[in-house]
Amino acid sequence: MSRTHLGMPAFPRAAAVSTRDATLRANLRRATGTIRARREAAVAELTDWQQLRAAAAAVKDRTLRHLDRYLLQLEENVTSAGGTVHWAADAEEANRIVTDLVRATGEHEVVKVKSMATQEIGLNAALERAGIRAYETDLAELIVQLGDDLPSHILVPAIHRSRGQIRDIFRAHMAEWGRPAPDGLTDRPADLAEAARLHLREKFLRCTVGISGANFMVAETGTLVLVESEGNGRMCLTLPRTLISVVGIEKVVPAWQDLEVFLQLLPRSSTAERMNPYTSMWTGTSDEDGPRAFHLVLLDNGRTDALADRTGRQALRCIRCSACLNVCPVYERAGGHAYGSPYPGPIGAILTPQLRGTASPLEESLPYASTLCGACYEVCPVAIDIPEVLLHLRERVAEGGEVTLRGNRTVVRPAARHRLERAVAATAGWTLDHPAVLRRAQRLLARTRRLHPRRLPGPGRAWSDGRALPPVPAEPFRDWWARTRGGAS
Ligand code: SF4
Repeated sequence: MSRTHLGMPAFPRAAAVSTRDATLRANLRRATGTIRARREAAVAELTDWQQLRAAAAAVKDRTLRHLDRYLLQLEENVTSAGGTVHWAADAEEANRIVTDLVRATGEHEVVKVKSMATQEIGLNAALERAGIRAYETDLAELIVQLGDDLPSHILVPAIHRSRGQIRDIFRAHMAEWGRPAPDGLTDRPADLAEAARLHLREKFLRCTVGISGANFMVAETGTLVLVESEGNGRMCLTLPRTLISVVGIEKVVPAWQDLEVFLQLLPRSSTAERMNPYTSMWTGTSDEDGPRAFHLVLLDNGRTDALADRTGRQALRCIRCSACLNVCPVYERAGGHAYGSPYPGPIGAILTPQLRGTASPLEESLPYASTLCGACYEVCPVAIDIPEVLLHLRERVAEGGEVTLRGNRTVVRPAARHRLERAVAATAGWTLDHPAVLRRAQRLLARTRRLHPRRLPGPGRAWSDGRALPPVPAEPFRDWWARTRGGAS
């Protein structure tokens, strides 16, 4: 059964469990530390990194401002190149379109390129319900699928697994999905990669339907672009007779010239490479080569809601490099599963609540899954001010009463959450507005200070668990001032 992120607990509950897992924390510390160091060196090679970053943000913002125009241009050019464009308002519609397309081919299995959009909509589970088996072909996604696990990182979905754990998963589960692991498989990276290569090769050669996402879509020619490191994507894009690409609407860029910026930023920021080992581009279909049928499913699924939010929309600039995850102290300790979504880490904390709304305890908790240290903003190659969006979303959560549109369905979130905080803030505001009451309250607090608890009761307990409450002085400042005139007497 393909697992999904549905029904996951709120971040604090999930993180309370994951942070106790010493193996997980060691795996994450080692992996993110290595990636961070390599990325820093790769980025330092470019003297114009900050200019590239500003250019990327500008291109994305301009595109998002005219998204309707560029999407229609893209549709026209994909169609004239022999492809078919489908519009999906939400996950359900996207899954139905893809399922129907696969059914129409008569096939019961498909090969898949690693794709965040298909993770987001839970495509594998939807295909499975329709009797269609989806084979993940990215090495890390394969590990996740064989282990009946969930991805925990955008770029390295099995980052939480050690080599020994991967060897055990291959030995135990490869045979259930096709060619078994070789006898005596070791945990050497080359041996593990060879086992995966042999296992996948027969699927590439057998399956006639491929499913992908895309990193970019070029409106001016209707071209899709996919970057990857392993070559599995190239196999899925070229060998099958039918190719179905599910892509978020924010992935469109106006022109080829814009790619010049992103294809410099993305590899250095993600895998710390000067350029991606495999950059595949395809435009419609051709009688000579590649798939004979090409379908592009353009996915909204909450993106137009995010676009309507002036502060929050910058999250749609994201090129999924995962640099913000690798520098985040919260991600490094809690791990990706705690975020309850395919988008973990800082980008997940701002993207998931915007795509799904903040009506459930999980989505409501995500904007708080951050120390606001700002490291994510510093590394983001498209200059998304993640702390700004986090604060904006916290405000939204605290204000309550949010209305979210889902296709033609309106979701009204329950109002009046955080009643206690609201009551405390209102009382404090009123007291500060009434000096005589404030003076009496300060004296009362000073007199009773030995009785004050060191930790807050009830919902405030979690807050005071990690913080020392400041002791109340024996004499209020106003009384001290009146008595001493600021120490002058
Ligand atoms: S928010 Fe920025 S750093 Fe994080 S994954 Fe997206 S592009 Fe990369």
